[in-house]
Amino acid sequence: MSTDIEIASRAELKPIGEIAASIGLSYEDIVPHGHHAAKLPLGVLATGAEAVAAPGRLVLVTAMSPTPAGEGKTTTSIGLADAFGHLAREENWPAVEGKAPAVLALREPSLGPVFGMKGGAAGGGWAQVLPMEDINLHFTGDFAAIALANNLACTMLDNHMHFGNELDIDPRRITIRRVVDLNDRALRQIAIGLGGYNGGIPREDAFDIVVASEVMAIFCLATSLEDLKERLGRIVVARTRSKKAVTVDDLGAAGAMTALLRNALRPNLVQTIEHTPAFIHGGPFANIAHGCNSVLATAAARRFGQWAVTEAGFGADLGAEKFLDITMRAMDSWPDAAVVVATVRALKYHGGVPRADLELENLEALEAGLPNLRRHLSNLSEVFGVATVVSINRFPSDTDAEVDRLVELLAAEGIAAVPATHWADGGAGAVDLARAVVGAVEGGAAVTGGAAAGGAAAGASTGASAGAAGATESESNAPTSIAPAPNAPTPQYCYDLDESLEDKIEAIAVRTYGALGIEILAAVRKKLDMFTEEGFGGLPVCIAKTQYSFSTDAAQLGAPTGHTLTVRDVRLSAGAGFVVVICGEIMTMPGLPRNPAALKIDVDGDGRITGLF
Ligand code: ADP
Ligand code: MG
Repeated sequence: MSTDIEIASRAELKPIGEIAASIGLSYEDIVPHGHHAAKLPLGVLATGAEAVAAPGRLVLVTAMSPTPAGEGKTTTSIGLADAFGHLAREENWPAVEGKAPAVLALREPSLGPVFGMKGGAAGGGWAQVLPMEDINLHFTGDFAAIALANNLACTMLDNHMHFGNELDIDPRRITIRRVVDLNDRALRQIAIGLGGYNGGIPREDAFDIVVASEVMAIFCLATSLEDLKERLGRIVVARTRSKKAVTVDDLGAAGAMTALLRNALRPNLVQTIEHTPAFIHGGPFANIAHGCNSVLATAAARRFGQWAVTEAGFGADLGAEKFLDITMRAMDSWPDAAVVVATVRALKYHGGVPRADLELENLEALEAGLPNLRRHLSNLSEVFGVATVVSINRFPSDTDAEVDRLVELLAAEGIAAVPATHWADGGAGAVDLARAVVGAVEGGAAVTGGAAAGGAAAGASTGASAGAAGATESESNAPTSIAPAPNAPTPQYCYDLDESLEDKIEAIAVRTYGALGIEILAAVRKKLDMFTEEGFGGLPVCIAKTQYSFSTDAAQLGAPTGHTLTVRDVRLSAGAGFVVVICGEIMTMPGLPRNPAALKIDVDGDGRITGLF
């Protein structure tokens, strides 16, 4: 069997100009990065947005609670987007000028996992985004820009203290940390400012991985350069000795940080193996941040796709909840459907099978694991009112008996579950899934012809000419949201923003985790009160807990009930616009395993990379 990189290196890529042309963009509209990637100036996105009568239908790909191996959300997102292309050809969808049948929006991979254990995040098998080695290995440099912007704020803070500390920053209450995009456990706790007077003020510091930074979360929620700058300015970097918040704006760093991020904020355009356009942009952690690609990438996917497919990190209890309660609030939008990825392996895992035996057929365990999937599905449909389709991502070890039994069991409960083989077969293996998604959204009717077509066609020409004139000039007209599609679903959040922070946490715990209630440690309650007094009580909450269980105990598989969500700490992300609620050990700087994946990665004299999965 071929490895991911072997499949990827045999694939024939189209020049990026052709991919741009497939969504109505001229070569002047994009900013090419080599032959196979380009950045999309925000001005072009905005020009197009006004002109498009109907933004694409938005499909969120999420999953049941995962096993430690990952269940294939990225792979399924890519397979589904490719499958829409097959379906469009099969059913002769009327062409919509300036739009491809589907466009993807995905996160950029972090180098921590690439060199560590999990591997890349550009899909797998025949469902990959390309060029996978570039995407996996610092791509267009966005994460480097984010790291520099973050570290600039740190440098300016230490410099401010060195030159007299007019703001009265308490060196023991500094919350911003330096970042690097590697798993480097040696940097978890460090001392800086050593070496005497010229070394500055000695203090304790720490490094986080880039994807754990608030700057990354902000980057992914910002709807324009102005919004980015305002959010950066609001980051609370430290407290004074009287505990007053000190912000990036107090340091005067927001302008320079935004300057470092100006190019990075433009979404990156690439293609799948089957040439489906994909915007790959931003990548925050799904625990202490919200775990979704940039809202600009999702807006671009909706602008240029009849269908837009995006992924949220971890299982639906974390990823989908945050996508709906945080990201969708930032975009003023709502998905038309959610695809919930389930695997035979994960169901058996939740049915009590140890990880080492997951490849052995076990129909009883499969059935015993179903309550986990069932709860994710009822959360999505009942709590959030989102139409769902289950995708069974088929692994080579799954037996026909297992897959058939799963389809039968779910059908008996009125749940449509569609086996998909995009990993082995590319988009052709997920056409039934695409059809089921269309069915769930439209009751089986084709989606994008008619009224939308005329408006979009007219708009495409306006977009092209305006873009040619001003692609790289003004970024100021970026859309804060894209107008809702006709018959767009109404948002149905898990909690209202005007509830207290405590009530919001409880709503998530009780309504979606199956908890009896929450427990907040006394010191933590004081912090929540302080955030509320400071005017942050109206923010959404971002829960950081294990992804392996609905509870905070990774060993409680299935669908536990009666548990209590214990809140151990809270942190304010004032720029990102949420309060992080920490329920368990959260690693913001991972370490490498004993035998890191980096040991296998190599490059030959012709520049060919090997060992990247
Ligand atoms: P997630 O996005 O849920 O973390 P990914 O799509 O990144 O998961 O997949 C995790 C890993 O599993 C990847 O290495 C991918 O290639 C592999 N994988 C996904 N689906 C399949 C499948 N059907 N068969 C075999 N391997 C798969
Ligand atoms: Mg993924």
